[in-house]
Amino acid sequence: MSQTSETVLEIDLAALEHNYNYMRSKIGASTKMLGVVKAFAYGSDSVKIATRLEKLGVNYFAVAYTKEGITLRKGGITKPILVLHPQSSNFEEVIAYNLMPNIYSKYTLNTFITTAEKLHQKNYPIHLKINTGLNRLGFSIEEIDWIVNKLTTTQSTKVEGIFSHLGASEDTAEKDFTLLQIKNYQKALDKILPQLAYKPICHLCNTSGIINYPEAHYDMVRTGIGLYGYGNSAKEDKNLIPVGTLKTLISQIHHIKKGESVGYNRGFIASKNTKTATLPLGHADGINRIYGKQKTSVLINGKLAPIIGNVCMDMLMINVTNVDCNEGDEVILFGKEKSAEEFANNAGTISYELITSISQRVKRNII
Ligand code: PLP
Repeated sequence: MSQTSETVLEIDLAALEHNYNYMRSKIGASTKMLGVVKAFAYGSDSVKIATRLEKLGVNYFAVAYTKEGITLRKGGITKPILVLHPQSSNFEEVIAYNLMPNIYSKYTLNTFITTAEKLHQKNYPIHLKINTGLNRLGFSIEEIDWIVNKLTTTQSTKVEGIFSHLGASEDTAEKDFTLLQIKNYQKALDKILPQLAYKPICHLCNTSGIINYPEAHYDMVRTGIGLYGYGNSAKEDKNLIPVGTLKTLISQIHHIKKGESVGYNRGFIASKNTKTATLPLGHADGINRIYGKQKTSVLINGKLAPIIGNVCMDMLMINVTNVDCNEGDEVILFGKEKSAEEFANNAGTISYELITSISQRVKRNII
């Protein structure tokens, strides 16, 4: 087995390409694809991921915050970038860096128009977000006439896109809710599109929406987790390949006797003689204490070994009584050989949370 000399998150761009092609194969030839690269491209490296996606032909990007969009522009990304959650105080930067804001409320539309007029913009592109049931961000359908009216008062701004977000598209038990969201989105489009002189880009689906609701792809789809190798939060999609692999190595092995303890607050007490290994990563690297509490397993020399006791800030300990291993041996927490979905689900969370939590202290190795 290959050896790593420190904790690294290996980012496999060939896996990204495979996932991109797979997600593309799920949509029509004329449907645009937006790659979601917020939160350091789901914990990996936003500029490196976006650069590869741009080369592969992705049509659009989305980030959460304005500063994430600025990082992409400074990194040389030229495709359109939608900022999903800009603050009104950032609108001048949004325009300066040629980003497209999500406009989701009367307040954000009013302030964006004021900023665009102040900066002498003409037809600056915005995306309107409609609340179809997630109740997070978005205009209500009842506010559509107000929006259209407002837009007729200015030349500064143009609706480039109209979108919404599905809240349970991975959850088969919530199919009725998703169908209602799709219906609400269509209702909103039926109300607004006839009032516009041109056709904006309509987009609704995230990864599991793309896979489960092909009838709702509209003009563009937004895929995040699928690009990084996971189908959705409820079920792994075996056609996708995990892009990130979190690896570390064994710093030290201990042989402890029955009744001895391991780690802070004696979090693990040996019920028999036990071989333990200490790894150089902890909760400050994104491996939350819950993984110790749930005895989540890591992989060493092809064998599983559970995390034991309380995860420390920079270290964690595992039980390797049944594993043939030595100091310096490589340990895989999650990745191609061991899914992040499974690692996260074991502790009651989801792959999204796990992979975006790997802290910036962990070196990213692009392969
Ligand atoms: N669109 C919006 C508005 C989002 O907030 C997200 C992710 O949180 C996505 C798309 C991508 O979702 P997924 O990672 O499930 O593809």
